[in-house]
Amino acid sequence: MVTNNFEYFAPESFDEAAQLLAKYRDTAKILAGGQSLLPIMKLRLAAPEVLIDLSHVPELSEISSNGDGLTIGSMATYYELSQSAVVQKAAPAIAEAAGQVADVQVRNRGTIGGSLSHSDPAGDMPAVFLALNGAAVARTRRGTREIASDRFFVDLLTTALRPTEIMTQIKIPVATGKTGSAYSKFENKASHYAIAGVAAQVTLGSDGTVTAARVAVTGVSSKSTRAKRTERILIGKEPTASVIRRASDRAAAELQDDLTEDIHASGEYRSYLATVIAERAITAAVERAR
Ligand SMILES: Cc1cc2nc3c(=O)[nH]c(=O)nc-3n(C[C@H](O)[C@H](O)[C@H](O)COP(=O)(O)OP(=O)(O)OC[C@H]3O[C@@H](n4cnc5c(N)ncnc54)[C@H](O)[C@@H]3O)c2cc1C
Repeated sequence: MVTNNFEYFAPESFDEAAQLLAKYRDTAKILAGGQSLLPIMKLRLAAPEVLIDLSHVPELSEISSNGDGLTIGSMATYYELSQSAVVQKAAPAIAEAAGQVADVQVRNRGTIGGSLSHSDPAGDMPAVFLALNGAAVARTRRGTREIASDRFFVDLLTTALRPTEIMTQIKIPVATGKTGSAYSKFENKASHYAIAGVAAQVTLGSDGTVTAARVAVTGVSSKSTRAKRTERILIGKEPTASVIRRASDRAAAELQDDLTEDIHASGEYRSYLATVIAERAITAAVERAR
């Protein structure tokens, strides 16, 4: 199928893009890499009258890090994230997840901002954003606010972004002490979307026990979600293989009323996979922290 007719704008600055979005509001959609929006437009599941393409706003692709942490422009592509030495050093789980998204064509076009704004239930970046305790910078013509990852994903394909807000940056706080992060997934072999994916960030104290842990699961329910019971089991303990296994067994515990069932996997299978993948991601994060 082809899309409905739409008007196309290619602004060359953030201000121009924000003005267009303020003018057309609910009838407009931001176009980032187009790897989710264009397919759903072709299926006529979305029919925006106006597309505002951000790909000619260069400052939205910048990646930098300083003493506060990592700042990633929303238009940074998966390819750029997977290759960036700055990202690999500051937040290896982001580079690792970006390198596992889809195929090379999608990785060349798809963006971190598009992935988070779309909130696909099987998206890789939402889980990593949650595990790394990130924040999204949302801007309009009039102001800027930061939305913490814990408040960002509201429901299936629904986020806390308002219709006139553009996500300009993703902020990842600097990891203190002995911290490691990792992302692992069991993927659909055709699309590479996660059937179950888990991102983990673990911090170890000087005595080797876990002082902080954030674990997030994707692919298993309507949105990426933190596995807080898993985190609670890890914190305060030495992360031995048996502790990691016991914690991983609870990875889908909070999701039992919201399990995804489709032609690719039953809810029960996804729930089981989450425990297996959690064990891999947490083990890798602990090894990196050590
Ligand atoms: C064949 C195929 C396989 C895929 N496999 C995977 C996979 O394995 N893992 C995975 O995670 N994803 C996968 N995807 C999805 C892909 O990652 C998309 O790139 C991503 O979901 C959306 O990013 P985008 O930049 O293409 O955004 P777009 O499609 O351009 O936009 C998506 C939505 O976000 C909004 N939006 C985009 N940017 C902003 C912004 N800065 N501010 C506010 N709103 C914004 C748009 O208006 C739209 O509603 C796959 C896609 C395809 C086509």
